[in-house]
Amino acid sequence: MDISLKGKRALVTGAGKGIGRATALALVRCGSEVTAVTRTQSDLDSLVLECPSIIPVCVDLADWGATAAALKNIGPIDLLVNNAAYANLQPFLEVTPDQFDQSFNVNVKAVLHVSQIVATGMKARGSGGSIVNVSSQASQRALKDHTVYCATKGALDMLTKVMALELGVHQIRVNSVNPTVVMTEMGRVGWSDPDKAQTMKSRIPLGRFAEVDDVVNSILFLLSDKSTMTSGVSLPVDGGFLAC
Ligand code: NAP
Repeated sequence: MDISLKGKRALVTGAGKGIGRATALALVRCGSEVTAVTRTQSDLDSLVLECPSIIPVCVDLADWGATAAALKNIGPIDLLVNNAAYANLQPFLEVTPDQFDQSFNVNVKAVLHVSQIVATGMKARGSGGSIVNVSSQASQRALKDHTVYCATKGALDMLTKVMALELGVHQIRVNSVNPTVVMTEMGRVGWSDPDKAQTMKSRIPLGRFAEVDDVVNSILFLLSDKSTMTSGVSLPVDGGFLAC
């Protein structure tokens, strides 16, 4: 299936590394003009070196005020990928208020905020749009030491549904992708231990982790006009994990 996003303007958060970076580059290949948002300047420098048409924005999305200032002049956006997230694993009894706040600030509150900014513009222009939130299988299954991460992704799935409900009238579709483990920098934090990785893989009917491109392809599908009647869904990219 060929996906063309020619002439569309896209914004991707967490575009410095991993899935977000690959998504930004794929969107350019599909013809979009891409704004890449992340908090490490050196990642943006290397991204722009790799793809000079990308517009870089450096901001810590956990900071509401700084985000509002950084995105004030982003211009019209048709496609939004809320991908940035924070993961820090702790046993339930050791979760700290700081880790809780940082996780919810990035994984939930920043998604709400960036989406408000972008969707306000979409509504004003009457142009519609598509938003994809990068959630996780962890939104729907308990994973050991993932208390806060699971809770943020559960909240993100519900945020996705309410956004779809309220923004649909403006022809703005909102969906999430829910990947299993992907061996990015974040994936390696939780799943480098071979025994742990094998236990997880044994719960995935396809018997493997997802590749970055598996996730990117699902994001592109949900952004594109190949999915024009799909809104409010959480699309597993999990080899069947959530079916079990
Ligand atoms: P990653 O390789 O760690 O990349 C995350 C990106 O988000 C980085 O560029 C990071 O920048 C940026 N970011 C994090 N906090 C930020 C903040 N406060 N402000 C601005 N940018 C921020 O992670 P990934 O594996 O690609 O994950 C992407 C998405 O997929 C996340 O939503 C994650 O929850 C989800 N996911 C991942 C997996 C997995 O196993 N990898 C599985 C399911 C779902 P810095 O490096 O500068 O912090």
